[in-house]
Formats: sequence, C-alpha cells, structure tokens
Amino acid sequence: MGYFGCHLSATKGNTAMVKTALSIGANTFAFFTRNPRGSKAKKEDPADAARAVAALQAHHFGPLVAHGAYTMNLCTADPEARAFAAEILRDDLRRMAALPGNFYNFHPGSHVGQGVETGVGYIADALRQALAPGYPVTVLLETMAGKGSEIGGKFEELKLILDAVGDSSLGVCLDTCHVYDGGYDIVNNLDGVLTEFDRVVGLDRLKALHLNDSKNPFGSHKDRHACLGDGSLGLDTFRRIVNHPRLRGKPMILETPNELPGYQREIALLRSMEK
Ligand code: FE
Ligand code: FE
Ligand code: ZN
Repeated sequence: MGYFGCHLSATKGNTAMVKTALSIGANTFAFFTRNPRGSKAKKEDPADAARAVAALQAHHFGPLVAHGAYTMNLCTADPEARAFAAEILRDDLRRMAALPGNFYNFHPGSHVGQGVETGVGYIADALRQALAPGYPVTVLLETMAGKGSEIGGKFEELKLILDAVGDSSLGVCLDTCHVYDGGYDIVNNLDGVLTEFDRVVGLDRLKALHLNDSKNPFGSHKDRHACLGDGSLGLDTFRRIVNHPRLRGKPMILETPNELPGYQREIALLRSMEK
C-alpha cells in the first residue's frame, strides 16, 4: 500500500495533524514549518511532538514531507535578506528534530537576475551551514516549473546544488505539475523522464513526490496546480505514477486546490488506482 497524503494546516499542532490525516485516509502528510508566506514559526511543544511521533508509528505512517516557506529565498540578491533566509532554514531543520526521520522539502530559490551559478552557490552555502549540526531530517530540493528566475526547473540545476553541497543525504522531491510545466513530458513519456532524472541526478536521490495536475499546457513554465484529472496531466498519468516500480512506496503528497473532503476523495482515488 502506498503512502498518500496532502498538505495539512499546522496551526493546531502535530498530533492534531496526525488525527486529521487518519480521518481522511492519509498515511503521510505535508505541512508548512512556518507561515508559508511569511517567516513566523509556531511555539514549540515537545509533548505534542512526542504524542505525534507515537501516533505516526502506531498507524504505520510513511515519512512526512514538511515544506519550507515560499518566502524563504536562499539566493536572493540582498545580503541581509539572504542571511535571514539561511537562518530560517537552519531553524526549520532544528525544529524538525522533534519529528525525527522525516523529510523537509523546499523551493531552491530564485536568483533574481544574478544567474544560476551565483544562485546555486548561495543555496549550497546555506545548505552546508544548516546541515552541519546533523539534525535527523532528510532535506529535499523540489523540482520547479522554471517560472521567472527560479532555480530547479531543470534536473541539471538540482544536480549543481547537490554537487556543490556534497552531502549524499540530500534528496529531491518531484512535483508532477512543476516538471510538466518545466518541459518534462510525464504524460506521454514517464519512463523517458525518469531515465533522464536517473542519468542527471540519480533515482536514488528521489525521495518523495508532489501529485498535482496542471492548469497549463506542457512546457508553459507557469506553476498553477489543478485537481487530479482536471488539468493537462489527466488521471492516466497519475495511475502510471502510483504504480511505477521506481516510484511506488515513496510518499506522494497532494497540493491540489482542495479542502479536506476533496483531499479525502483524491486519496481514495489514488488508492483505487493501485494495482
Ligand atoms: Fe513546493
Ligand atoms: Fe510542490
Ligand atoms: Zn507549484
């Protein structure tokens, strides 16, 4: 049985998220470590985290896939803002130690005209610092749609970051909407895209997926998520993904435009597709 889940609100704490996940048939989930469009983090509650860890184990959850704030741009041009983003990353990884053994995924960042090489250097510097304490979390870079000056729209750019950091524990989270918008045709050639990923990055680095349909056509570099079957990817693509031998067993997180009942339906749909 695969690990399927969705983004959940973290405002009521970790144990509340596990309960919500169970109520919608999820056995993994994602949550923002702090306000997704700001930087404010919640007060830490070790007792709540311990209860959540016990519940995750009791119910055989797969790894969770926490998500860094969208506003955290590790390669922004302003040195002060860049240092602040690096500090947020460090604090997020420290906080993840309360829920050990899970994933922390983030958007690599936008180089805002400084160029990919400069941006990759800044991202790698921040990652090396944040990874130094050795917190029990696996950090994942998300594949991006390549909107504006976003880094991570090409597998080669993720590989540049992985090589610059030089830490073999770093992984990648593949977002289906992003890669399709980014020009990787997972609709007509899923095997070819995975072969390309393996050639450039290595499939052993692929740790989790974001399952989203796309409101835009192939290669649009737009990044607008749609519900499963309501976009240019279509249900057959997701059927192939959940059953692909190189992908099954990895946590698959919905970031579709849904409230909880919609997520519950999509999780049931994904489970019904599993062979
Ligand atoms: Fe994301
Ligand atoms: Fe995503
Ligand atoms: Zn997106």
